[in-house]
Amino acid sequence: MSEYLTTTRFSAGVWMFGRFLDRYATDGYGPAVSMIEAIRIAASVGGIESLDLNYPFWDDDATTAEVQRVLGETGIRTLAITPEIYTREFRAGAFTNPSPKLRSRAIDVIARATEVAFELGADYMKIWPGQDGFDYPLQADPRRLWELSVEGIKKIAESSPEMPFAIEYKPKEPRTHMFFSDAARTLLAIEDIGLDNVGVLLDFGHSLYAGESPAAAADLCLSRGRLIDIDLNDNFRGWDDDMTVGSVHFMETLEFLLTLKRAGWDKPWKLDQFPFREDPVDAARSSIRMLSSMLRLLDRIDLDALAAARESQDALAAQKLAHDILFGGVEGSQW
Ligand code: FE
Ligand code: FE
Repeated sequence: MSEYLTTTRFSAGVWMFGRFLDRYATDGYGPAVSMIEAIRIAASVGGIESLDLNYPFWDDDATTAEVQRVLGETGIRTLAITPEIYTREFRAGAFTNPSPKLRSRAIDVIARATEVAFELGADYMKIWPGQDGFDYPLQADPRRLWELSVEGIKKIAESSPEMPFAIEYKPKEPRTHMFFSDAARTLLAIEDIGLDNVGVLLDFGHSLYAGESPAAAADLCLSRGRLIDIDLNDNFRGWDDDMTVGSVHFMETLEFLLTLKRAGWDKPWKLDQFPFREDPVDAARSSIRMLSSMLRLLDRIDLDALAAARESQDALAAQKLAHDILFGGVEGSQW
């Protein structure tokens, strides 16, 4: 195994090793992959220590015991469980579904998934209410959606106080307007929920997509003690492209990593990607290579000079410090 893989710890969403579908390739971008196979593929990357697993395990193609066995064989840990509250049954929403029956069904799905999370020793439950929100003007009363979301999450988090629940926000897709759309709104709802075991999962790409500075959004969540985990990827800001880390927004990724490093981030660096046309193992390795290089590079940044540049809000002095670590050793460069 090459040395870069051992420099730090990495985790991933298991879906990046599964099969991708969209509204065009309705036959999938590749053959069907079972949860068991996906875990084995993740293990073949070489640097992934833990996984975020969807539950039920993709159309129930594996039992918890089978998943536990393959995790044991591969030495991979369960990082998180993501209950599937965004599939067909919940197309009109999970917590905010207009049907009280389906709202309580979503709570049941999460409760069952939480039991599995305890069984597998997961660090947290990831809540992605992908179908909660609205599509059309006039469709929904925003205050009612707020009430239902706060109430629903309160219910699940209250019933398992020892388990952290991380809400992943995203501005849109599949809804044109998702309820948990950005960091500030999610933190405000968390304040209303009023429980210690609820926090944020900040997906770097979702934050870009939401028009945020991911570093500033992370800092806001950190300042309130609510940052449970992060997802790393990249996109062109107009869509959740889920590309390899640092491929588009190199400098903002550097800033994001610096923010977390300085806050003493000690969790594995988590990948969330959709390599539609790339080999997922290569895509994961590309991100791991990029991340370990960036993290090492950041060890060299002059933090005192950066603090001084920031105190005077000197944009070009701050940029120069990044340029120094990036190009300082480039022969023949102006640095
Ligand atoms: Fe994500
Ligand atoms: Fe996403």
